[in-house]
Parts: sequence; structure tokens; C-alpha cells
Amino acid sequence: MLKGKSALVTGSTSGIGRGIAEALADQGVNVMLNGFGDAGEIESLRADLQARSGGKALYSAADMTRPAEIADMVRDAEAAFGGIDILVNNAGIQFVSPIEDFPDDKWNAIIAINLTSAFHTIKHAVPGMKARGWGRVINLASAHSLVASPFKAAYVAAKHGIAGLTKTVALECAEAGITVNAISPGYVLTPLVQAQIPDTARARGITEDEVKRDVLLAAQPTKTFVGIDEVAGTALFLCSDAAANITGANISIDGGWTAK
Ligand code: NAD
Repeated sequence: MLKGKSALVTGSTSGIGRGIAEALADQGVNVMLNGFGDAGEIESLRADLQARSGGKALYSAADMTRPAEIADMVRDAEAAFGGIDILVNNAGIQFVSPIEDFPDDKWNAIIAINLTSAFHTIKHAVPGMKARGWGRVINLASAHSLVASPFKAAYVAAKHGIAGLTKTVALECAEAGITVNAISPGYVLTPLVQAQIPDTARARGITEDEVKRDVLLAAQPTKTFVGIDEVAGTALFLCSDAAANITGANISIDGGWTAK
């Protein structure tokens, strides 16, 4: 169904973005990867996705804090693939601090990567989608696009912002065959989260299972992590014809977190 379409996934060298890129490649979608990491590992991933897709897989090292690099990345993907059909805005970082100590540079970086980069990718990719009369924009938001937690001022502000950007662009594109949606996961066991568990267990003198249940999953009623495959599966569904009238939605995959 998606075979032969082309996707750009920001922040896809790791975690959720990587999972979405792999799921799209498995459907025969050309994929442009983006993000930081070891050059050899990124090249292996690119080659693997190219083999899995039966099409093309490319990599852009564009830094999501730099608008000119974002514009070049979109232009390069359009030139290589003949257009971007699916845009997944996933790149994101986190920093945790009380507001009075929150460093200005961390605020600016989180707003730039988690929110403003999506403005730039959408701005540059939408004209091509409109010209072809089909498009899917998927923004990785978070449970923190709907509710707050203390000490995450920049992250919560950026994620609430991307929820608003999603709704606005959905309305602007509603008659153009383009859907624009957000996916809002709770805690996902990405390598980044996994790596924190042994240290937290040592620091608190509790077991790794207790860290997962009582610390990381304290707000998540199911007490289970969201799987990367669950987020990727939702992204694939949003790309499908069955989701043609789902637009402007913010889909929670949070084990009941935001139902409370
Ligand atoms: P991750 O750290 O595993 O991956 C982040 C990706 O973004 C990496 O590929 C990294 O290289 C890239 N990146 C970071 N800064 C960049 C920059 N300046 N330019 C280009 N790429 C950059 O993180 P993840 O857990 O997979 O998170 C992915 C998205 O999902 C983020 O938007 C995050 O806020 C969101 N999310 C994550 C969780 C979770 O529990 N892991 C929950 C809800 C939402």
C-alpha cells in the first residue's frame, strides 16, 4: 500500500525514530534518515534499510537547530526521491531542571529541536505534498503535550507547542489530501531510557524492576513501557488509507497516563 512512497524521518538514528524508519522501509518506502551518531553504525543502518525497502535509503546529517540545514535536507530528499510523501518529525531532546536554574541554552535547544525544526520541515515539505495531492505529516509529541510534570519547562512547552502546530497545519491542509497528526507516547523503553535504569537502581538502593515500576512508570497506570513497535505501528496506520480522515488528532499511547 505504501510501496514506492518516500519518507523523511528526523532523529531516526536511534530509538523511536529509528523504529518508525525501519517499519516504513519494511513497507517498501524510501527513507531519508537523520540524526547524530557513529558514522559506521549510521551507514550500516542506512544499508540495512535500503535492502529492506527494495528502494532507496539515504542519510542527512542536518542539525535540527539550524534552519538552513533543515531546508537543504528537505530539498535533498525531494531531489533524490522525487518528493516527500511522509514527513515524521521525531528528533527530540530532554533536560530536567527547576525553572529558576533552567539554563537559557537548554531552553533554546529544546524549543529549536523539539518544536521549531518541525515548523521548518513542514513549511518546506508541504508545497510538494500539495502539488501531488497526498501527504502524511506525523509529529512525535508526548504525554507531555497534554499534561505537565515539574522541572521539564522547555520540554512540556515544546510538546504543547507541537500539539498546536499539528492542529493548525491539519486545518490548512485539510482539502489537499494531506493529514497532519501527533502521536503522544508515555514512557518508551528506548536505549536512552534503558541506560538510566542500572544507575538509578544503584543510586536509590532498589532493584531494576522497582526502578521501572515505582520511578519511571509511576505515572503510567498499565505499569508497562510503551513499545517502539507500538509507536511505529500507529505511524504506519496514520499513513494508511484507513486513516485518510484522521487529521488534527493527538493520539495517546500512554498506558492511561493522561486519562487520570
Ligand atoms: P533518542 O534519544 O533515542 O533519539 C533522538 C534522536 O534525535 C536521535 O536520532 C538523535 O541523534 C536525534 N537528535 C537529537 N538532537 C538532534 C539535532 N540537533 N539534530 C538532528 N537530530 C537530533 O530519543 P527517543 O526516546 O527515541 O525520542 C524520540 C522522540 O519521541 C522525541 O521527540 C521524544 O521527545 C519523543 N518521546 C519519547 C518518549 C520516551 O519515553 N522515549 C516518550 C514520549 C515522547
